[in-house]
Amino acid sequence: MQMTSTAGSATDPRVLITRKVLRELSAETLKYPNIETACGLVGMVLANGTIVIAGVIPPSTRDIVRRQATVKFGGEGLSAAVLWMEANFANIHKNDSVANFSFIWKKHSHHGLGYNHFSQTDVNSIVEAVEKYKMEFAIGILALIPENRSTVHTRGQMKGTVSVESDVTVRFRFYYFDRNMLQAGIREPKLVTPQVVDEKVVPVMPPLAWQWVDEDGFNRQLRQLEEYGARATPIYRDVNGDPIQEIQFVITKPNWKGTLLVTTNWDYPKTPPLIQVISDVDPTRPGKELHEVKLDADGKPIWTSESDFIDVVFELEKLEEL
Ligand SMILES: [Zn+2]
Repeated sequence: MQMTSTAGSATDPRVLITRKVLRELSAETLKYPNIETACGLVGMVLANGTIVIAGVIPPSTRDIVRRQATVKFGGEGLSAAVLWMEANFANIHKNDSVANFSFIWKKHSHHGLGYNHFSQTDVNSIVEAVEKYKMEFAIGILALIPENRSTVHTRGQMKGTVSVESDVTVRFRFYYFDRNMLQAGIREPKLVTPQVVDEKVVPVMPPLAWQWVDEDGFNRQLRQLEEYGARATPIYRDVNGDPIQEIQFVITKPNWKGTLLVTTNWDYPKTPPLIQVISDVDPTRPGKELHEVKLDADGKPIWTSESDFIDVVFELEKLEEL
């Protein structure tokens, strides 16, 4: 993939964007070539004021309505993901403080509208980000697919084969608006040209936890527990000492004698979860015991990569842990 850009004028803010982010934005846009789509943008502001667009927050299904010519995007899923990134960015950089985490704003596409500029709705929305939601600055990226050239090859191919070579260009336009512009009475963003950089040259971003990468899987775990009459509350905390927080599920059910703790790493299910039970040691004395459970009633691992949380619950009930 080739990425090209031209230098901005001296009065523009200095904006960097990583190749990794451009690749992700391109993939997200091409997933929905005929309808509008959107996602969140995060990054940082360096000590010299340079803005770095360094991370993408995929849209939560609760937060997005994709249509032919409109997209509505924003809500609790995006807010939660941004808060999680912010907390973990601070953890990773607590000893170097090279940059401040920043919610950059949003990327969206509007192929359906048939023109290559922010619509008036887009303009109102980015002004609102600064005026109403008190962001210092906001950068809105507009994604466009100008044309899709495909070449069909039928000669010189392997027997029984036809090749289609696709050359799809995704164009991104960067709209910038900030507090100074608002205070000067300007109510329209300006276009800025970012410098494309390798992710290795900017301060590292935390990985996005599995909750936001595999939203369906996350919702399935909670739904299955709910249907069984159990209640799971996810909390974000550092359990294992590495700089990235874990998502810990505190799972309770009426009539259980214990509380189940399932602690997942950001990359769950790649790293197996920690399964712990808090139980009353002696009901006559106030004292709780926290212990890890590794094996099921048959002496096999209680969790495998095939397991959902509900399977762990069934095994723990068999073991009379709960
Ligand atoms: Zn638009």
